[in-house]
Amino acid sequence: MGYPETFEGYAVTDTNQWNTVKKIEFKPKPFGPKDVDIKIIACGVCGSDVHTVNAGWGKPDLPVIPGHEIVGTVVKVGEDVSSEYKVGARVGVGAQVGACLECETCLENNETYCPDWVDTYNDFYPDGSKTWGGYSSHIRVHEHFVFPIPEKLQTNDVAPMLCAGITTYSPLVRNGAGPGKKVGIIGIGGLGHFAIMFAKALGAEVYTFSRTNSKKEDALKLGTDHFIATYEEKDWATKYARKLDLIISCGNSSKNFDLDGYLKCLRVHGKLVSVGLPEEPFTVSPATFIKNGSLLGSSHLGNRQEMIDMLKLAAEKGIKSWHEDLKVGEEGISEALKRCHDNDVHYRFVLTDYDAKFA
Ligand code: NDP
Repeated sequence: MGYPETFEGYAVTDTNQWNTVKKIEFKPKPFGPKDVDIKIIACGVCGSDVHTVNAGWGKPDLPVIPGHEIVGTVVKVGEDVSSEYKVGARVGVGAQVGACLECETCLENNETYCPDWVDTYNDFYPDGSKTWGGYSSHIRVHEHFVFPIPEKLQTNDVAPMLCAGITTYSPLVRNGAGPGKKVGIIGIGGLGHFAIMFAKALGAEVYTFSRTNSKKEDALKLGTDHFIATYEEKDWATKYARKLDLIISCGNSSKNFDLDGYLKCLRVHGKLVSVGLPEEPFTVSPATFIKNGSLLGSSHLGNRQEMIDMLKLAAEKGIKSWHEDLKVGEEGISEALKRCHDNDVHYRFVLTDYDAKFA
């Protein structure tokens, strides 16, 4: 068949071979009056794609097509879509494609916490239609989850911002990162590299915690003011005790994750927000929190207005992702998933050349 009845994409079909993909045809959800059809031109590869396809977060609904850092061109709009989205416009889609948009949570602009939120892939709409991510020819999305891309931002630079960027920008803003604040960032990966750039752009003094010194030069180029190699520096938690107002953890593993040490670095009632979602739980004793009244929590993506504000800030300040580009297709996706899993990426893969694979 083909567009508009069916779309094509690269799917993982076996979690034991999680970096092997094959091209499949799939049916998108029925087209609604508020829907926008987008022909995809680029998509970032997120740590969440790896957690999903290797079943680290539990068995996915196979076949699964990952990808939630999507940039594309509008090819069709529903009859009730706002005039903001015209055929031919360049737009982005992040990690969420649905929410009820009517409950108290949504009306408070917290749609990323709506009990009925729908993920961009490996999820289902209320009518039972499955969601398919951006390693695909097209995506069909409600306009609330479609974002105009400022002209100044290049496609491959901006794609990773649509998940990795917003996931760090939102908790930074919501927790007061700005002038006079000392903000710690844990883990320099896709999320972490944005966290450093956005914390700096918001005016905070930035302390970056990485496991080794191998990313020190990069962290300094990204704008960090201080760098701590936690596996290599002795007594770092004592040296930085009670210094920080806020820590955003972007670590994707809890193995040897020194949560007690990081919490010790917070001022009284300082917060550690883990946007990283390790496959294994953290362990921490309540006695750790009592020493400085520190607080531990998490944060999910960012709301529509935050996404628009972040893209504006990035355009104004010239913030770009650091990315390596690979061609969409069996080889490119396999390499991206494997190297992302192995922490061998500086600092995001972006899949490109969609026209060559999806004629
Ligand atoms: P990456 O693989 O790009 O980066 C992860 C980084 O975590 C590594 O580069 C490493 O940094 C650090 N790290 C790994 N293990 C440890 C450890 N044991 N202790 C401390 N740091 C560690 O992943 P992403 O940036 O794409 O994703 C990060 C996490 O965020 C994932 O778990 C992902 O699922 C989650 N996520 C959450 C979202 C949300 O809404 N909350 C949205 C999107 C993603 P270094 O080498 O510097 O130590």
